[in-house]
Amino acid sequence: MSINQQQAIAHTVNAIGGTVFVTQPAKSVESSFTSVLPQATTLVNSNDPFTIIQEYLDQAQDNNEFVTVATDGVTLFNSLPHLSSSAFKSNKVVAHVELNNFDFAIVTSLRDLHFPVLVSQTANEASKFATVAYNLSENLNTFVFHFFAPTTYLVNESVKLPSEILLESVQDYSVEHIISHYEVKPFEIVNKVAKQKDTILYLGQLSDALVEAATKADALLISIKLYQPFQLAQLLKIIPSSVETLTIVQQTTTPFASFSPVLLDFFQQYPEYQTLKTFTKIVSATFGYIKSEGYQQAINNLLANVRSESTVQNLSFGKVNTELATKSSKKQQDDLAGAVAEAHSLEQAYLKVLQQVNPDNLNVLNEFQAENIGLETNPEFGFGSFLYDQEQRENLISLVQNAVKKNQFKSGNDTKLIELLSTWLVQVREVGVVEAKLSQEIVALLETDKTSTIARELLALSQYFSQEKNWLIGSDAWAYDLGSSGVHNVITSGKNINMLIIDSEPYAEKNQEKTINGFRKKDVGLYAMNYGGCYVASVAIYSSYTQVLQAFLEAEKFQGPSIVLAYLPYKKESDDALAVLQETKKAVDSGYWPLYRYDPTIENEADIFKLDSSNLRKQLQDFLERENRLTLLATKDPLLSRNLTATANTEAKAQQKKIADESFAKLLQGLSGPPLTVAFASDGGNAEAVAKKINRQALGRGLKSTVLQMDDIAVEDLPTETNIVFVTSTSGQGEFPTNGKQFWDGIKNSVDLDLASVKFSVFGLGDSQYWPRKEDKHYYNKPAKDLWAKLKLYGGVELADIGLGDDQDADGFSTGFNEWIEKIWAALGVDNVEGVEEPKPITNEDMKLGSNYLRGTIVEGLNDQSTGAISAVDQQLTKFHGIYMQDDRDIRDDRKAQGLEPAYAFMVRARLPGGIATPKQYLRLDELSDVRGNGTLKLTTRATFQLHGVVKHNLKPSIRGMNSVLMDTLAACGDVNRNVMVSALPHNAKIHTQVSQVGALISEHLLPRTTAYHEIWLQGEDDGDKPGDSANWENRKEGPAKKKTLVAGNALEDFEPMYGKVYLPRKFKVVITVPPYNDVDVYAHDIGLIAIVEDNEVVGFNVLVGGGMGSTHNNKKTYPRTGSMFGYVAKDQIHLVCEKIMLVQRDFGDRTNRKHARLKYTIDDLGVDVYKSKVEELLGWKFAEPREFKIESNVDYFGWCKDELGFNHFTAFIENGRIEDTAELPQKTGLKKIAQFLETKKSGEFRLTGNQHLVISNIDDADLNVVKSLLAKYKLDNTDFSALRLSSAACVAFPTCGLAMAESERYLPVLISKLELALEEYGLRHDSVVMRMTGCPNGCARPWLAEVALVGKAYGAYNLLLGGGHHGQRLNKIYRYSIKEDEILDILKPLFKRWSLEREDGEPFGDWCIRAGIIKETTEGKYFHDDIPEDA
Ligand code: SF4
Repeated sequence: MSINQQQAIAHTVNAIGGTVFVTQPAKSVESSFTSVLPQATTLVNSNDPFTIIQEYLDQAQDNNEFVTVATDGVTLFNSLPHLSSSAFKSNKVVAHVELNNFDFAIVTSLRDLHFPVLVSQTANEASKFATVAYNLSENLNTFVFHFFAPTTYLVNESVKLPSEILLESVQDYSVEHIISHYEVKPFEIVNKVAKQKDTILYLGQLSDALVEAATKADALLISIKLYQPFQLAQLLKIIPSSVETLTIVQQTTTPFASFSPVLLDFFQQYPEYQTLKTFTKIVSATFGYIKSEGYQQAINNLLANVRSESTVQNLSFGKVNTELATKSSKKQQDDLAGAVAEAHSLEQAYLKVLQQVNPDNLNVLNEFQAENIGLETNPEFGFGSFLYDQEQRENLISLVQNAVKKNQFKSGNDTKLIELLSTWLVQVREVGVVEAKLSQEIVALLETDKTSTIARELLALSQYFSQEKNWLIGSDAWAYDLGSSGVHNVITSGKNINMLIIDSEPYAEKNQEKTINGFRKKDVGLYAMNYGGCYVASVAIYSSYTQVLQAFLEAEKFQGPSIVLAYLPYKKESDDALAVLQETKKAVDSGYWPLYRYDPTIENEADIFKLDSSNLRKQLQDFLERENRLTLLATKDPLLSRNLTATANTEAKAQQKKIADESFAKLLQGLSGPPLTVAFASDGGNAEAVAKKINRQALGRGLKSTVLQMDDIAVEDLPTETNIVFVTSTSGQGEFPTNGKQFWDGIKNSVDLDLASVKFSVFGLGDSQYWPRKEDKHYYNKPAKDLWAKLKLYGGVELADIGLGDDQDADGFSTGFNEWIEKIWAALGVDNVEGVEEPKPITNEDMKLGSNYLRGTIVEGLNDQSTGAISAVDQQLTKFHGIYMQDDRDIRDDRKAQGLEPAYAFMVRARLPGGIATPKQYLRLDELSDVRGNGTLKLTTRATFQLHGVVKHNLKPSIRGMNSVLMDTLAACGDVNRNVMVSALPHNAKIHTQVSQVGALISEHLLPRTTAYHEIWLQGEDDGDKPGDSANWENRKEGPAKKKTLVAGNALEDFEPMYGKVYLPRKFKVVITVPPYNDVDVYAHDIGLIAIVEDNEVVGFNVLVGGGMGSTHNNKKTYPRTGSMFGYVAKDQIHLVCEKIMLVQRDFGDRTNRKHARLKYTIDDLGVDVYKSKVEELLGWKFAEPREFKIESNVDYFGWCKDELGFNHFTAFIENGRIEDTAELPQKTGLKKIAQFLETKKSGEFRLTGNQHLVISNIDDADLNVVKSLLAKYKLDNTDFSALRLSSAACVAFPTCGLAMAESERYLPVLISKLELALEEYGLRHDSVVMRMTGCPNGCARPWLAEVALVGKAYGAYNLLLGGGHHGQRLNKIYRYSIKEDEILDILKPLFKRWSLEREDGEPFGDWCIRAGIIKETTEGKYFHDDIPEDA
């Protein structure tokens, strides 16, 4: 058998079991053990692995299992200081150590630790010695080392692995006895020679060449197999009496300064055993790295030395003092260098913030550079240099003190110099901060003094005049080892030094308590707080940028040691920022990585510890309890107190569930029929609705029926079911929905399930056309089919054949369902039951009707603090109030696994007619996003602001906050007319003012009149109000209605003159554009108004009707549509025209099917002419012929421009509309500063574009320089991006949008970066291609009009569409279904290249795609699904 030593060892390790650790160079660079020990916990070599193992041993005290460590010599050498811990002396630990650099010095460096040390040379020996090592450890209850080097000895020997590994208890607990039991000798003669006069005792890598050379030279070669305990008597006994000389040779790449350790071992015992054997000469020597052909020479020289009259000690042969390594370890080193560079680039997220905080005076004491990984990047080194600097500064201080006293300068201005030096002394001693300018002035003056000694002395220390912010950095990229002692030194030093410790360990999802990887770094915070006198912060940049900033500033301000623990979790160094962000969120949400800041010097007790996240780990809770801070915290934040008692709540929940189960069981006792369990797995709600329907019908038929999620069934309880039916939909690429995944994993991995007594069936919901490609067909209803097959495999008995519901059937999935369910009722004998009535499902129309003008139970829902959610009906109704309930999908699975409800939070959308906000309004939104939301603001594709991550109790303050600056959220969503969007038009102030006024007029005119908005959100007082807030909205003339209407019978009632009680069938959208611009995508909305301008006056509008974007994958009855031209209308009539168009839709729109309810379907069903005539009928007059117009583009134009009134406007590029602070782009802070400046000047405004960008508008010339400098400072002035990026847009999608099937906003920038290099190469950097991405086919970023569109189909898979019009005038068409990044790039790059070569002058990409025959033109929405390429 051909196996290597690692495989031979792994065979033994697997048989022995226990806990296994493998150390490896980096997370993405494996060691030679990693692949053969896949069950092992991997630890990174540079991350103090033995300290982690030691802590594991300390924690697992009662654990009698073996702990195995598979590592390498260098890692072990670096860990030597930790090996003397008592944990290793009294636990069963075995280390298998690969020596991959020819250096056996690590073997001898263990001599004083007194652990047994074995050295094997071949795979056979490795297998045998591994067994011996475990037996030694078992019997001696101690650490045992087993070393081996890659074998070059007996390489052709066949390897036999034992079928059984024996662990035996022995009577005699001596090493000698145990190893002899396994026929292992401490020393072994490895050759035969005729003249046995000279002996070589060898500790090193044996090779066939070495043995041959020794044999040829007549030297007896003895290999050391058991180095410790060194059994000299055994050695002397096997040396023949004829032998005269002994040469002790150790292989090492670092020759010993004096005697070799083996020689010392020898002489330590030799006096005792000298009677056994005497030698004429004993010398020692070292071998470095010797090539095979060099051994003979080395051995000959060795023997010549020992045989000569004047022997020399410590001769050295072969290569030494060079970096030596085996080929495989060299490759590892190269890979490691790559991984470290990648880790360093991830860590830039923190370092850039540090640089921002200290642009001029940051001093990273252990500066990382690729070429100096090692000593100088080591924090210990950095701390040393800090102490040296401190000493030098003290020297400088005393020199300055003397100099000030004596004044012996000869500078240009001695009086000034003395004054400056005195000020410097005060600042150093008393203020603690030295102004940079002061230091510069002092040095400059000193330099004018050429003659005085004191000036020369001071100048020699001139670098210490300035005061830097000193940071030490510990991380995986920074040759991490702040080690316990390193941290301890810094904390106890009391020095004013800051430490940033970056923890890269991802949050372990399962068995959290048992995993140990990396826990040490988190606990540094606890250690430091417990020690006291130290500032401590725990931060995570992908959770809160602001908190990182605060922590850095506070740490630097703190006069003493500060520790900032920074979280940056990655599984591999090559992970991208999105993966790091997702891991961070899980860890912070679960409390695994709490965010906090601790400053013991703060006077107010309650503020010493600030918790910046909402969950805490147990250890931290304990610390706070000890410090009596927990109550203070919980009092300050009631929500926190709820989280802290989560454990108790869990018990309460279990108790409630038990009571509910019992009462339900009692209820079922009243029923006579057989039992039935209905289990569902459902993401979108359809499968759940089907399951509940089955349950209702079953109860109606007298069955003891119960319905539950699949994940609520314990797989081991499945055999106790009598009748069970499963209903599942199909997620992603044929995956189980989230609430069935766990159950499916259990079923799939089960080995002993016996379902012989269980009757079952399965119904699946799928779409046979969802995956059109042949190779993807098997995804259709895959979960249902997989489950069916497994249940059959385990012996389940069919109640009825599997049922498959297909969205493509005439009645959708109901066709298959009706057929299948009849078979179930028949199988259960309840098919002929009369009078089973199925209650009608509640529709959106019912909800609206029963809502009392949009009230529902919203108030009750807001007051219910037992959940972060609101009821399903209220979720629909709150949309009319501008609110969507969402949950954080990044942590949805994780919370579910912990038994927690999803992390519900709300999106709150402002109604912003015309897309304009004053600086004051902007500042309030900015504040609300920080205090009530997730710290970001979203500019939407319909030119308004959205807050995300607003938890329930923050909803009211958010809405009141917006209203306090005269913004509201009414009708920002829901089945009503939404925000009216207007072209941003920075070049033309007059026209913009006119169209904005029209936009505001239409918005007000079509605003719902319900008083529910005012009643629910604005009435009365609220804790979050600021003085004067409520007066602002109470005095507002327009906006949400406050008073009910007087109706017949003198009753005051809500009254909706235009909408009635059921409002519209679906949402309704109006936009206005001014040619040649089309930044609002005028063709994509229910009503698109094209302004007609004469002599700089808007005289009227061409009216487009029936545009719309939303559709459903593979449902050909749904499609996007561009608006149809109705004709021209004068300006003063336009709000009435909009009203009448809306009323026709109100009365003729489809209220039975929401997928067919938008105006675009009504107009196609009625016909354009009929719809138009109905509008004209209501108006009482006809549309005029459309006026001429020319639209040229639908993108934004970035940078500065001046309008005709002399005001300046800057269009800033806000990628995908997300305003946030990142280390690279602190745009949110920048916009806030600009708003603050404009607010003081009472000028300027913020204008939003439909492409999700922002125009800083109406800037007076006098203010221009300040605004420009702020733009530059906060990197808002950068518009030098590729034209593709500037023309791109993406919807929100993950993590907040509940409908997202794939990433969008977070992924499009990454994808574009991957295309940009190619575009550069083809000379297309400045050629605009409109590219859009959405996470689902609802089309929020209007993808169907883009020249290139990617529409999410499943996580990581997108439909690619091509051929849209460059200025939004034409729909595109599907080119490929469900492709992933590689395919997207493989398709787009060659197409872009062809376009660059083949296009006609000015021909846009979309047009070229059609002319080149790449894709057929889509002439109208209803033909969107025609002519899709066959191989799509
Ligand atoms: S397009 Fe789909 S995924 Fe994107 S935000 Fe709209 S609904 Fe969500």
